[in-house]
Amino acid sequence: MNKITNHMPTAELQALDAAHHMHPFTAGAELAKAGARVITSADGVMLTDSEGKTLLDAMAGLWCVNIGYGRNELAEAAARQMRELPYYNTFFMTTHVPVIALSAKLAELAPEGFNNVFYAGSGSEANDTNIRMVRHYWSAKGQPEKKIIISRKNGYHGSTLGGASLGGMIPMHQQGGLPIPDIHHIDQPNWWAEGGDMSPEDFGLERARQLEAAINHYGEDKIAAFIAEPVQGAGGVIVPPETYWPEIQRICDAHDILLIADEVICGFGRTGNWFGSTTYNIKPHIMTIAKGLSSGYAPIGGSLVCDEVADVINNAGDFNHGYTYSGHPVSAAVALENLRILEEEGIVDTVRDETAPYLKEKWEALTDHPLIGQASISGMMASVAMTPHKESRAAFKTSGALGYYCRTRCFDNGLVMRHVGDRMIISPPLVIKKDEIDTLMDRAVKSLDETYAWAK
Ligand code: PLP
Repeated sequence: MNKITNHMPTAELQALDAAHHMHPFTAGAELAKAGARVITSADGVMLTDSEGKTLLDAMAGLWCVNIGYGRNELAEAAARQMRELPYYNTFFMTTHVPVIALSAKLAELAPEGFNNVFYAGSGSEANDTNIRMVRHYWSAKGQPEKKIIISRKNGYHGSTLGGASLGGMIPMHQQGGLPIPDIHHIDQPNWWAEGGDMSPEDFGLERARQLEAAINHYGEDKIAAFIAEPVQGAGGVIVPPETYWPEIQRICDAHDILLIADEVICGFGRTGNWFGSTTYNIKPHIMTIAKGLSSGYAPIGGSLVCDEVADVINNAGDFNHGYTYSGHPVSAAVALENLRILEEEGIVDTVRDETAPYLKEKWEALTDHPLIGQASISGMMASVAMTPHKESRAAFKTSGALGYYCRTRCFDNGLVMRHVGDRMIISPPLVIKKDEIDTLMDRAVKSLDETYAWAK
């Protein structure tokens, strides 16, 4: 077979791809007909495909390329580490310098009292760790019956058996007999879609109090933890009403259950602070991290664990859990370099003080568009809800058709924006500049105009 390169005709690459590559979250037969878009290179916030077309990546890949594409420092860090020590494990009383340095750095950046990290290769694996860790924690404290984890419908916590079970995505549960036992879901704080006649504030309280109802239903002595994303990402960038998190916090504190904040998207600057928990004043016991930890340049995830939980786990003998790539030295070196760049270039501060407020003003003005009923934003993650009738917050009859069309228009207009049903969502690299935000908005509005014309 000839060497496969960027210079091959797109159709040939697509045919080979469809013949041999099974894609995540993709209908294979449809892909074989349409052909995948082949991305060949990227720089800053821009992608280039095999046809030479450039696209502004308003999704930062999959919410992860926080420092933007093309940072040579990370490539150098990976190459250096591969030459020095490409792999060694962290099982059985061994360690290495990159994982020591990364762990110390994370303890410095994390909220007070978070001095411990357990590594995984991804966010999903880290959430699997969390399931095992919280159950082991209660067992070590003499309460092995505290096993149930409460989570939320339309939450996303990954694609492993554990991660997908914690998540509340029905189409995922339908494939493969999920959720696994002892995981229960309460309703999400999505006021736009589910708030009815309630004010957002009352609705936020009502949804939070479902946690208390679930605790009372199953019994406090059976509940290990509650897990949630500070802002639901894959569910459609659902920013909760202001009343929601304080009430969740009160309930977790009152009932002696652990709180896990899934920071896989919200962490590392996405909401304008290092962690979404800081933005929403959440005091979790465990934070799931991945994505922005390495800006997607190398696969790595983990659980940031508070001292109280870590002490119990550390004093309970072997924790019989771990992955071959827990604390992989190359990923750790890349993550450390990524954190250095985020910190030294003041990227999180710039998001909070300059670029996110600039985007917010423009994004919220989208509610003047005839198709847009709601615009939500938290730092550098945002969504708009498309509706046929703003006042009643009505949904379109065929959910997702408009969203899919709009996404296609975006591609043609040089913009990667994703749709969740008929919500359009963005999560651009944190390094996006004001003039690039202008370009993003111009292309988004053009795509929305074309979608509106098509829908009429
Ligand atoms: N948790 C959240 C909040 C996520 O958004 C994701 C991925 O999108 C995950 C967990 C799973 O992470 P990964 O895809 O790295 O396994």
